[in-house]
Amino acid sequence: MVENYDIVIVGAGTAGTYLGWLLAKKGFSVIIIEKDKREEVGKRLDVIHFETDRIKKAGIPPPKEGYPELVGVFEEDTVNAPDFKTKKKIRALQTVIRLSFFLQRMYKVVESDGGKFEFNCKFTELIFENNKIIGLKADKNGTKIEYRARLVVDASGTSGAIRTILPPDYGVETFKLGPNDVMYVLLQYIKWSKPEEPYPQHLNGFIYYLAWLGPCHIENGVIIGVGQPGSYENVAKVRDDLLKKANFPPYEIIKSERGFTPYRRPPYSLVGDGFLCIGDASVITYPFSGHGVTATWMLCMVATDVIETALKQDDYVSKEKLWDINLRYYRDQGAKFAGLYMQLSGILNFTEKEWNYLVGSNIIYRSRKGEIPEPNKEYEAEMTFGEILKIALGLLGGVLKRKLSFKNVRKLLKANGLAGKIQKHYETYPENPSEFDEWVNQADELWKLKKPVFKKYPSVTIEYH
Ligand SMILES: Cc1cc2nc3c(=O)[nH]c(=O)nc-3n(C[C@H](O)[C@H](O)[C@H](O)COP(=O)(O)OP(=O)(O)OC[C@H]3O[C@@H](n4cnc5c(N)ncnc54)[C@H](O)[C@@H]3O)c2cc1C
Repeated sequence: MVENYDIVIVGAGTAGTYLGWLLAKKGFSVIIIEKDKREEVGKRLDVIHFETDRIKKAGIPPPKEGYPELVGVFEEDTVNAPDFKTKKKIRALQTVIRLSFFLQRMYKVVESDGGKFEFNCKFTELIFENNKIIGLKADKNGTKIEYRARLVVDASGTSGAIRTILPPDYGVETFKLGPNDVMYVLLQYIKWSKPEEPYPQHLNGFIYYLAWLGPCHIENGVIIGVGQPGSYENVAKVRDDLLKKANFPPYEIIKSERGFTPYRRPPYSLVGDGFLCIGDASVITYPFSGHGVTATWMLCMVATDVIETALKQDDYVSKEKLWDINLRYYRDQGAKFAGLYMQLSGILNFTEKEWNYLVGSNIIYRSRKGEIPEPNKEYEAEMTFGEILKIALGLLGGVLKRKLSFKNVRKLLKANGLAGKIQKHYETYPENPSEFDEWVNQADELWKLKKPVFKKYPSVTIEYH
């Protein structure tokens, strides 16, 4: 069986569904194929957080009061130091939802705008003509279907089902995500056993442990989440360390979830002839939180403009015609994320004692004019010279007071310097694919300077690359 479309998207997660919707609204014929059953997609995770301002930017009809997906809309978070006493309120606009309910609602929105889905339908292989992608083969309950399309999109999640099997010379890196390229996450949905007594509230982050208490739909309940690279065993050990010190009141575990989210630089190019990758398949997540959903929506908005122009022309949708997706993405959000990812190797070095000082001081979580600090608002450090000077003086003060070690402050400043360089380099992403190799060589040299961090928790040493 052969079917023809303008665009075939593999994966009906948040990335594929959103891009499919934008393109269907433009009047293109779009099919989104998904290996899972319609009602099963997204069930691997229950509750997740969206950055509220990004829902609006993406034009998604926001979840309203009474929608089964909506857990709540929140404006503030608390950062806790590892002494569990020092705290700082920060502003973080989040809409917390239940993923599967959200997807089910979006499927109807996409269909009402002309997009099509095929569930229980698994991508198996690409179809090439003259070494260029012209479609793909899929299997639906044993029936083989050929989807011929002008553009094939990989939105298959962390497996990168298409990206990782592209021919090596197709212009998109084919790496698979290894244990040090992801944050393994363990989540426990818990219910406080004595709700009449005081208990810790949700929206509490424990930065030193890369752990948090998040809101959920369970009455008197929260989610205890912890993320670490390397293995699930690493996460379990760090969680034990956290729980030993946190001394939370008694609770009952209602259910547990686990998964991993990319923690690596994305491929240098997201496009090839007749091909685009988005979402976890393209390794695009916020470096500081591992959140991926709304990060990719920003890419999809850029991609839709470029794809529309390319599809309006009659000839083949070549890599050159899609190149502006790379250009516009990497010169903007991609450059900011590259900088933040580089910066992490400075910040992660600080010890337990140093974090007690940093959370209590005004150095990292700075407020402007008495407002609650809002770190990473636009995902870049938009600082005046005066502010940079204040941070430098704050760090120096910490060293003089023996609250921060000179060694770790130097590592932070070095990482910040490199972050600035890599961000600037991405901001000069080549306009022309012919200049790409030279740009990649320079980017490789900068990334080689990113130093791994070895952090000693009581029961395990974690490596961050
Ligand atoms: C524990 C945990 C908590 C997280 N919390 C948050 C959060 O709070 N906020 C946030 O923004 N992000 C969060 N993330 C990250 C977020 O889940 C991902 O970035 C996001 O879901 C990626 O969406 P996607 O559409 O790219 O991939 P996916 O959601 O993985 O969707 C890919 C789809 O492709 C399908 N597929 C795969 N292979 C094939 C094939 N061969 N044929 C057909 N279909 C195929 C899969 O079945 C799947 O439905 C979290 C991740 C984890 C692990």
